[in-house]
Amino acid sequence: MKFETKCVQAGWEPKNGEPRVLPICQSTTFKFDSSQHVADLFDLKVGGHFYTRLSNPTLDAVEQRIAALEGGVGAMLTSAGQAASMMAILNVAHSGDHIISSSAIYGGTVNLFGVTLEKLGVSFTWLSPDATNAEIEAAIRPNTKAIFGETLANPALAVLDLERWAAVAHRNGLPLIVDNTFPTPYLCRPFEHGVDIVVHATTKYLDGHAMSLGGVIVDSGNFDWAASGRFPEFTQPDPSYHGLVYVETFGRAAYIVKARAQLMRDLGAQAAPMNAFLLGIGIETLPLRMERHCSNAQTIAEWLANHPKVEWVRYPGLKGDKYHALARKYLPRGASGVISFGVKGTRDDAMKLMDHLKLIKIVVHVADARTCVLHPASMTHRQLTDEQLIKAGISPTMVRLSVGIEHVDDLLADLEQAFAVI
Ligand SMILES: *Cc1c(COP(=O)(O)O)cnc(C)c1O
Repeated sequence: MKFETKCVQAGWEPKNGEPRVLPICQSTTFKFDSSQHVADLFDLKVGGHFYTRLSNPTLDAVEQRIAALEGGVGAMLTSAGQAASMMAILNVAHSGDHIISSSAIYGGTVNLFGVTLEKLGVSFTWLSPDATNAEIEAAIRPNTKAIFGETLANPALAVLDLERWAAVAHRNGLPLIVDNTFPTPYLCRPFEHGVDIVVHATTKYLDGHAMSLGGVIVDSGNFDWAASGRFPEFTQPDPSYHGLVYVETFGRAAYIVKARAQLMRDLGAQAAPMNAFLLGIGIETLPLRMERHCSNAQTIAEWLANHPKVEWVRYPGLKGDKYHALARKYLPRGASGVISFGVKGTRDDAMKLMDHLKLIKIVVHVADARTCVLHPASMTHRQLTDEQLIKAGISPTMVRLSVGIEHVDDLLADLEQAFAVI
């Protein structure tokens, strides 16, 4: 099946007389004929659902759909994007371990890693997405467990050179984990470029309508946990599962089964069946929406670039953008719907422009069907120090515009009247 077909068909294949539309299985529990069957489920000897904290049929169908779209061996939905990033890391690293992360990532993830996971004893080295191979290599330590980045960084809009970072990671026995929220698998499939694990905030384009929080971890199945030598938890018996060895029992799906069996079991950041259902519906129109997000954003970015009250525009789809060449390589169908620009003047001018927009609303969100704006320095990234702000590529006059799927003429007219006021 082609991508567009998978978006509507993958994951749910009704049997004779079953609902055509994926049902919402709003049940925490499942009924069994024998206690032996339940024992086997607990031991991971047979597949099936027994408690929704671990798995649920509605979630399972949407997980299979997303795994099919990314080209992975398995996926696990989570309650939010934050939970997906957290578990993606905790599945390979614990207290005393070390992770290398691109500094151009979502502000919430900067906090999750740099504050909360640091408190749990996982240490981080932050590198520019433009770091050279030698700089990345120099940051790798004996206890390093993974390299993390964002395909298209929110909000810095830096494009990560996936193949180059993957090559350095693999030379050193490390997996490359990438947050692919902004491109979605419609614009970029990181596994085709050597990435091992993908995470998404499904809250954004995959849901597409700003209806429900969610996250997902997708496993490519390509990383060789045994050959790396850095991951005893994958190759040695797990005492919490009667000595089960993940790579032996689950082969290419070792990572994603381990994430569910250990972390979802213990942390419980499971997605709700209703949210998974809404996500599944959202994904059905993903290709149509992404096409429009990209074409609208391209038009608006070009318009902003020629506007006298705009200091700078960052959109990788613009010729002359620092990341244009990488965008052409990794995002050939379009550079997604988010644009950053600097208003000429001060922080107050940026906020004034936003206050005068009418159709375009101020919201703390990006990447849904309705166009919206956000001021990172005073909103999403306000916990960051000035130094962290600069490292994350954010200035005080920066406005982040998330271009929706309205008619572009209406969006341009709204921007024009707001610029006229400042
Ligand atoms: C929003 C976002 C997240 C966090 O997702 P939540 O669902 O809000 O927890 C993570 N990464 C990126 C790139 C995001 O845009």
